[in-house]
Amino acid sequence: AVAEAGANVLRGGAFKPRTSPYAFQGLAEEGLKILQDTGKRYNMPVVTEVLDPRHVEMIDRYADMFQIGARNMQNFVLLTEVGRTQKPVLLKRGMSATIKDLLMSAEYILSQGNPNVILCERGVKGFDTETRNLFDVAAVPTLKTMSHLPVIVDPSHATGRPDLIPSCALAGVAAGADGVHIEVHHAPAEALSDGPQALLPPQYAALAKQLRRLSNLMQENAS
Ligand code: PEP
Ligand code: MN
Repeated sequence: AVAEAGANVLRGGAFKPRTSPYAFQGLAEEGLKILQDTGKRYNMPVVTEVLDPRHVEMIDRYADMFQIGARNMQNFVLLTEVGRTQKPVLLKRGMSATIKDLLMSAEYILSQGNPNVILCERGVKGFDTETRNLFDVAAVPTLKTMSHLPVIVDPSHATGRPDLIPSCALAGVAAGADGVHIEVHHAPAEALSDGPQALLPPQYAALAKQLRRLSNLMQENAS
């Protein structure tokens, strides 16, 4: 469904950084195989989170891109390890990390010789409990003034609310984001992780259409 809606990278977690050690932790290598097979079947590169420097080699065999999650943004050993590979790295902003902290973490990867880092704004800790995190849309143009690296937004983790995802995704693109990172599930109530924030496939398809129109409009305005 997401391929049909025009998504160009497929993301899925095989190693999940759950708050509780008793929550579903992911399918590990079996999950990587499912992800790789699915990516091949639909001709989409795949990205997945790496939690442990000991897993970098294994994940390198299955995925096209590494994700470093918010909780590991300052795991400098892990950053150094992915920096030694040739695969692109999706680096998510830590929940209490400043923009400078994020850029310094990117430097850990770049300084190892891997130039392909994509920065991701996914919301920071706020005081309001209406949303899961505080979506910092200003981080997008701010990062753009400080770095040449591509920047994407993750309105799924930033808000934790499917009803807010479309407006925040559009705001991210309007602010100059190069892409979006959105969680989709066909049966959110059955999802083993983050079901309550998932969009249904038709909701995702409608949003993808709007995002493409906005992006085209912005390109027209820029030329
Ligand atoms: C995720 O992308 O599934 C994830 C766990 O996000 P974050 O690291 O931003 O919390
Ligand atoms: Mn998630």
